[in-house]
Parts: sequence; structure tokens; C-alpha cells
Amino acid sequence: MAAAARAAGRQPDDITLVAVSKQQPRDRIDAMLESGQRVFGENRVQEAQTHWQAHRAQRDDLCLHLIGPLQTNKARDAVRLFDVIETLDRPKLAAALARAMDREGRRPDVFVQVNTGEEPQKAGVIPGEADAFIAAVRGDYGLPLKGLMCIPPVEEEPAMHFALLRKIARRNGLDMLSMGMSHDFETAIAFGATHVRIGTALFGQRQPS
Ligand SMILES: *Cc1c(COP(=O)(O)O)cnc(C)c1O
Repeated sequence: MAAAARAAGRQPDDITLVAVSKQQPRDRIDAMLESGQRVFGENRVQEAQTHWQAHRAQRDDLCLHLIGPLQTNKARDAVRLFDVIETLDRPKLAAALARAMDREGRRPDVFVQVNTGEEPQKAGVIPGEADAFIAAVRGDYGLPLKGLMCIPPVEEEPAMHFALLRKIARRNGLDMLSMGMSHDFETAIAFGATHVRIGTALFGQRQPS
């Protein structure tokens, strides 16, 4: 990450490593915590509770990112556990999060997920609807919107997707970009990623339950 940042003329400190701990055994997660890592990503609310609720009670320096799809009926649990919710992509979820934040008195940062490849099976707002949705998230729902997130199609060159996400962020005055995973984080950093989400390259292969 540091080398990719320098190659792009950026400061390594400007890029946050989100260690993706989904489907990883407890000993690897504990080892990562011992190494000093504090920012973690999970894609399911329930698994995140299993991995992190006990740690959360013991340390106040954890920063937990939700990086997977969120159902509206889990919005309140998500608001309770996470510090950043990266996968906001529809008005119904924005409304549920606004309500949950009011009830919980807790306001995690929010990222809007953009489906840059317009893949039917993938979550995220399509690029043509991003500006209107971003305006609604800020205006109608008053959520603490900080940035954008994307997962490029696996079979395509990621660079054009990262460039598109950066363009949408810039024209909407958003500073943060969550993009790049184990296989493409260097490219993402070259295109301005502020958060890279790395699982297997850090922890090793996942162990599906
Ligand atoms: C699992 C996951 C990652 C991490 O993927 P790796 O290829 O293991 O680095 C990143 N982002 C999202 C949204 C994920 O679901």
C-alpha cells in the first residue's frame, strides 16, 4: 500500500487499510488485533456481531466497517455495531438508517455503494442515478455521508470503474473512496482510494462455515 501510494504521489497515511475479517477464524482475527490493526470490515451483521461484540466492549479504538448488503430489518443492529456503513444503495434503506440512528443516538458514517458495472446481480445505485440519490441521502434523510464505495465486475479492468467512482465523488464533493481489494488495491490507490478492503491477502484463504 505504501509503495502504491508513493508511486501515485500520495501520502501512505492518507489510505486506510480495512482488514476484511469475514469467514476468518478467531485466532487469525486475534493475531491481527495484536499486530495493531484496528479497522476491520465485515459483510454480514450477524457474523460481525459474533466476531466483534466482545472486543467492542473491551476496546474503544476499534473501527468496524459494514461492506456487505444490508437488509432494512437489520438497520438498527448495524447502527449499533458499525462505525461506517459502506453499502447504502436505496431510499428505503436510507429511511431505515435515519430512523435507527435517531433511536440509537448513534450516527455511523455512511458511504453510498455505486454499481459501476451496472451488473443486475450486484448491489449499488447505478451511476446515472447516483447524483440524485446522494442528494437525497444528504437532504431528505440527513445522513452523515462521507464517501462512495464500489466493487468492479470481476472480469473487467478495474481502473475504469475506479475512475468513474472518483468522478462521481468529486462532482458531489465527497472525499472518501472505498475501492480496491486483494487483487486490485494498487490500481485503486492510483485512482484515489482512501480505503482499501483487503481480506485474503492479509488473513489467507477464507474458511466458509
Ligand atoms: C470479501 C470482500 C472484500 C475482500 O476481498 P479479498 O479479495 O479477500 O481481499 C472486499 N470487499 C468486499 C465488499 C468484500 O465482500
